[in-house]
Amino acid sequence: MGLIPDNVIDEVLTRADIESVVSRYVLLKRQGSNLWGLCPFHSEKTPSFSVNPAKGIFKCFGCGKGGNAINFIMEIEHLNYPEAIRHLAGIYGVEVPETGYSGDSVQKEEKNRVKDILKEAAKFYYKSFNDPVIGKPARDYAARRGLSKQTLDNFGIGYSPINWTALYDLLNSKGYKDDELLKSGIFAVSSKTNKPYDLFRGRLMFPIFDSFGTIIAFGGRALGDEKPKYINSPDSIVYNKQNHLYAMNFARKEQSKQLIVVEGYMDAIAMHAAGFKNTVAALGTSFTDSQLKLCARYAEEVVFFFDADNAGQKAALRAVKMMMEYLNKLTGINIRIKIAKVPDGKDPDEFIRVNGADKFSEVVRNALYVEDYLLERAKNDNTDPVTGELDRGRYQQDICVYGSWMNDEIKMSRMAGASAPFLGATQQAVMSQMIRFRQIEDKKQSQVNSRTLDRERRENLDHRNVSEEFATAKDDSMPEEVVSEKPVFRKVIDTATKEEIDLFAYALSLGSALADKKHFDTKNVIRPDDFSGDTLRELVRIFLNIFDGRDETLYARMSDYFSRLTINGQPAEDIMFRAVEAADKSPDVRVKRDMYLALLFKVRESRIRLEEEMLMNKLVNAGPDEKEKINGRLRSLSDYKMSLRNKIGDL
Ligand SMILES: [Zn+2]
Repeated sequence: MGLIPDNVIDEVLTRADIESVVSRYVLLKRQGSNLWGLCPFHSEKTPSFSVNPAKGIFKCFGCGKGGNAINFIMEIEHLNYPEAIRHLAGIYGVEVPETGYSGDSVQKEEKNRVKDILKEAAKFYYKSFNDPVIGKPARDYAARRGLSKQTLDNFGIGYSPINWTALYDLLNSKGYKDDELLKSGIFAVSSKTNKPYDLFRGRLMFPIFDSFGTIIAFGGRALGDEKPKYINSPDSIVYNKQNHLYAMNFARKEQSKQLIVVEGYMDAIAMHAAGFKNTVAALGTSFTDSQLKLCARYAEEVVFFFDADNAGQKAALRAVKMMMEYLNKLTGINIRIKIAKVPDGKDPDEFIRVNGADKFSEVVRNALYVEDYLLERAKNDNTDPVTGELDRGRYQQDICVYGSWMNDEIKMSRMAGASAPFLGATQQAVMSQMIRFRQIEDKKQSQVNSRTLDRERRENLDHRNVSEEFATAKDDSMPEEVVSEKPVFRKVIDTATKEEIDLFAYALSLGSALADKKHFDTKNVIRPDDFSGDTLRELVRIFLNIFDGRDETLYARMSDYFSRLTINGQPAEDIMFRAVEAADKSPDVRVKRDMYLALLFKVRESRIRLEEEMLMNKLVNAGPDEKEKINGRLRSLSDYKMSLRNKIGDL
C-alpha cells in the first residue's frame, strides 16, 4: 500500500464523501446528524447501518463493519486497498500516479506488452487445439478426461503443437522483440543458436488468469506419460505464483462464503464442470499466506483438499502449520479453515466422475475443522495398519506439536482433552506440554520475527511524512530508562485500559487543537510509550505521523488503520468509534482539553506505577551496583509522579 502517495489517498477521501459513495449501494435516510439504511453486509429488516458524513465514516451496529469510504468500497466490491483507491479515484476524478517511484510507467508499459504476448499465445494455443489435424491428440485427451466443449472454452484450454518455434515465429512476425518475448516466461533461449524457442510443445495448455481474468501465465500438461507431467511458466514481471490461485477469476463471482481449494488445475476444472464453481487451485507450490489472504478477501471459509499420496499429505501439514502461524499473528484476517478428505484416496475429479456431484457435496460438508483434522492425523499416522496398535510415544510427540500450533486456548484444550485418554494422561498435563512446545517454537522464531516486525514498522514510518516535532517530542522531565529489558519476541499485544482508549479518543477528537501551542505544551501531546499495548502504540505512532491539522479527514484516515487492528480482541474500529463519539460530546474545546489532560496524567501515572513495581521486584535480587541504579531510577520516577499529581491538581 505504500505505492499510492498519501496526498492522493487524502484527496480521494476528501472528494469521495462517504454519503455519495454509500448512496450508490444503500438507500439512506437522515436521522439526526447521521444517515441510516439497511446494511449491505448482513441481512436485516430494520436499519442498523449508519453513515456519519461529518467524520467521513460508516458503521453497522448489527454486524460491526465500519470504516471510511475506501474501506466501504473494499468490502462491497471485494477489492484490496490500492484497488479500492483507484476505483474511487476513477469515479471522483482524482489522478493516481501509477506508482510512487519514477521509471514505473516504463515498467507498466513493459507489463502491458507481456500481457499482450500472453494473450496472443493463448489465441494461438486455442487455435491449435481446434485445428482438425494438429489438435487431434489434445482433443482426444480432453475427451478421455471427460471435458466438455463448454468447459474447454470457458477455461480457454489450448494445445501447444510439437514444434520448436511455431509460437515464436508467429509473435516475431507480429513485431514482438526477443527481449519482450523472453520476459513473458513462455520462451527459453537455445544455447546453440542463442535464439528464443517455445517452452511448451505438445502439451495441453491452461491459461492462468489473475483474479480479474487477465492471462498472466500458462500451465502445460503432458498428453501421455512424458515427464514432467506439468510445466508451469516461471514467475515473471506479471506473474508471481505465490500470489494467485487458479480459477479465482471465476470463483470470486460466485459470491459464495466458502471457497474450495484443490491441488491441480484439472481438479479445479472438473469441480467447476460438476457445478462447484467456488473452487480454486494452488499453482504448483505449497499454499502461501498471500493465497490465504486472497481467499479471505472473498470468503469466510476455506475447505482444502490435499492429494491422498505421501507428498500431498506432507503438503497438508505444511500448509496447516503455515496457516495457523499466519492467523495467530495480528493479521485482521478472519477465516475458518477446514480440511476435507475424499474417501478411498481418490482425487476430487475421480470421485465426482464415479459418485456424482451430490455425493461430493457430502464430502465437502464433512470437512473437518483444523484441530479435528490434526487429531485424526496424529492417530492415523501412528497406528500400525496391521495390528491396529498405537505408537504412544510418537502419538504424544505429534499431538503436542500440533497442539502448539493453536494459539486459541479453546482449540488447544479440545485437542488435549480428545487425546489425553490415548496417552493415559490428564487433559491438563497434555495442555501444559503443548504450551511448552509453543514457547520453544516462539523462542526459535523470536529473532526472525522481531526483525520482521521492526522492518514493517520502519517501512510504515518511512512512507509517511514524519512530522518531526511530534515524532521526536520527548517530555524533558521524563527520565531516560536505565534498566532496560532485552527485547524478546512476544505476540503483538492488543490490550488497552479504558483510560488509554479514552485518552486516544480525546486526542482524535481534539485534532488540530492539539497542535495549538497556546493550549498544549508539546510534552502534553500523547506519545506511543504512554500506552501499554502494541496496538495503541502503533496507532498513536501513525496518528502522530499523519496528524497535520486537517481535521475533516483525520478520523477517516485513521480509520484505515483501525480496520486492520484489534483492541482487547475487538475490532479497533468498534472500540475507537464509540470512544470518539463520546469524546465529541464534550460541550467545548476547553472541557475536552481538560478531560484529555486528566486522562493523560492518569495514564502516565499508571505507567510509572507499573515500572516502579517491576523495579521493586528487581531490587530483591540485585547486586549493590545495580541496586544503586535502580534506586536512582525509582527516585526520578517518584519525582516525576509528583509533578504529574500537581498538574492534575491544577486542572
Ligand atoms: Zn451490518
